[in-house]
Order: sequence, then structure tokens, then C-alpha cells
Amino acid sequence: MTLPFLRPLGFRHLSTWRVGEHMTPKGQETSSRIFPPGYKFAFSIFDDTDRTTLHNGPQVYQLLNELGFAITKSVWVDDPGPHFTTGGSTCAEPAYLDWVLELQTQGHEIGYHNATDHSSTREQTLAALEAFEKHFGHPPRCGADHAANAEALYAGAARVSGVSSAAYRFAQKMLQPDRPQFSGEDPTSPYFWGDLCAERIDYWRGFSFAETDLRSVGPILHHDPSRAYVNAWFTSSHAPRLEQFLQRLRPDRLDRLEESGGVCILYTHFGLDFVGERGRLEPEFVTAMTDLAARGGWYVPVSTLLDAVRNSDGCPSLSVRKRAKLERNWMIDRVRDRSRFGPRVATHDQNAS
Ligand SMILES: [Zn+2]
Repeated sequence: MTLPFLRPLGFRHLSTWRVGEHMTPKGQETSSRIFPPGYKFAFSIFDDTDRTTLHNGPQVYQLLNELGFAITKSVWVDDPGPHFTTGGSTCAEPAYLDWVLELQTQGHEIGYHNATDHSSTREQTLAALEAFEKHFGHPPRCGADHAANAEALYAGAARVSGVSSAAYRFAQKMLQPDRPQFSGEDPTSPYFWGDLCAERIDYWRGFSFAETDLRSVGPILHHDPSRAYVNAWFTSSHAPRLEQFLQRLRPDRLDRLEESGGVCILYTHFGLDFVGERGRLEPEFVTAMTDLAARGGWYVPVSTLLDAVRNSDGCPSLSVRKRAKLERNWMIDRVRDRSRFGPRVATHDQNAS
């Protein structure tokens, strides 16, 4: 199967994408199964760096290492100074950077979560991307926007189309009047960096769902010509904090994931509430991960998994109709999940967090 042709504003074609060490070499046999033979399903985690420090991060990764999980740990590159929005360490802290580099050596992927914990101008974003490359040896392969950052890409009302977008804009004005205007994709904005994303980053986080198996909600990867600064959007399983995380990994859900040979990419914040006040891991988290580890899944970082998805299912350009369906499903899913788990946590939006 040959790789599909993408037209991300002509910046980069799939055939010329960097071939990472985990990428299936061109010409190699691929199958409709996403993960290699011998595994029952595929699983990854995108760890949004919000609130993560050296006090609550290492315990989580020690457990992941012991159980054989390699995941994607996102970072902020720059010190936000006194005007941060969420809190958490950045690569500007030498000891923290050393720990993140160690995680990379251990096989975890380092992802991008914008330049820092507040909005950054184009110049700041460019400098942060260059610093990222210097720290980790290559540009980020995947990333996700941080909730309140003005440089978020196609966030807020721009995430959905047509009438839905107008409704979203109206609802946001009424319910969240303090939310910033997002403009990372607008060339006239000081926060514009869409072209830098298109040049450097392969995968960007799109819609998230309460489902565990992402194959049940539509294509895991897609390209959107009307949101073309993102080369490929990926869907994720919405698990912003421990409660949802545990619900997505309930044994009956894992049974189904295993039986159907599914694919799960959990989006979570390990810095939030996975470690208790005494600095110990929450026992339910340890139990859930131990159960998962014993099930014979393919436990790899997000970009490794997405490379395999791309080789297997491609990265379709969605028609207007299919896109509308995905948006509709996402909005219904959000309403259902919020009615169950309560409203959005201030700093942890379901889209751009
Ligand atoms: Zn965040």
C-alpha cells in the first residue's frame, strides 16, 4: 500500500515526511491491521503537560516504564514568567529538562504543547520550536494546543463549520465570555504560526471522544483542506482527569478493545490528580494500568501509532458531509460526557488544553 497524497498547502507531501525510526519503510508490506502481528490492540497516551512538575511526574513514568508503556509526554519549552495560566514546569528548568530527556532516552516521545503556559507571538513560537529541536534532536512530530493560548489552531468556533460554528460562537459568548480569540491560523494575527506547524509537525490533536476504541467514531487521522495548516488531525479518547481515565479503561471496555482489535489514544493530564497528596500514585490508577499491561496490546508513543494508522488506513481528506458528521458526533459526545462528569475544568478544555 502506498502512502496517500496530502496537500497541506503544498508545504510537505506525505512521501517526503520524515521517516522516523518507528515508521514502516516505504515499500514494506502493510495490512489493514494497524498494529504488528502478535498484538491484540494498539494503545497510546498523550500526556498534556499541565501542572506536571518533578513532584508529580516521575512516579507516573516510573510505573509506565515498569509496565512496559511508551507514551507521548508533551512539554512547554519556555518559562511563562509570573503570568502563567495553568501552572507546571517547563524545559527552561534544567532539572526538569534533564528528566524529560531521560524519558526520551527511555523510549517515550516528547510532544509539543505550545511554547509556554500562556499565549505566544509568532516570534516566540518560532524560537520555541527551534529550542525544542535543539533539546530533543528533531522538531516535534505531534502536539496539542494549550487551552487558553491565543495561538491555538482552528480552536473555539473555528473547530466546527457553518451553522454549528455560529451556534458555538453564540454559546461561547454567553457561557464563557472570557475565553480568548484563537488565531494561530490567521496570517494577519501576531499569534499566527500555522505555516510553521505545517512545515514541522506531522500530527495535531483534533476532536476527542468519550469512546475507548477510536475506530468506532470515524477515521483516526484526517486531513481537512479548510483547516490545512494541520497536516493530519488525530482523534483521541477524552480522559482529562483520573475519573474519566479510569472510566475509559474499565475492564469491560478493555475487553471490547481487545476483542475488536481496536485503537486507543488517551488524552490526559498526568499532572492533575494521578498522584495523591503524599506523593503516591492513586491505587486505582496503578490497578487500571496493571490490568491493561497484561492484555497484550501494542503500547507505543502517539506518533508511532499514528504512523501505523497512516500506513494502514491512510489519512483521508474528509468530504463536507463526512466532516459534518464527525462534528455532530463530537458535539453530542461532549454534551453527554459533560452531563456525566460535570463541566469543563477551567484549565482543561476538551479541544485545546
Ligand atoms: Zn494544556
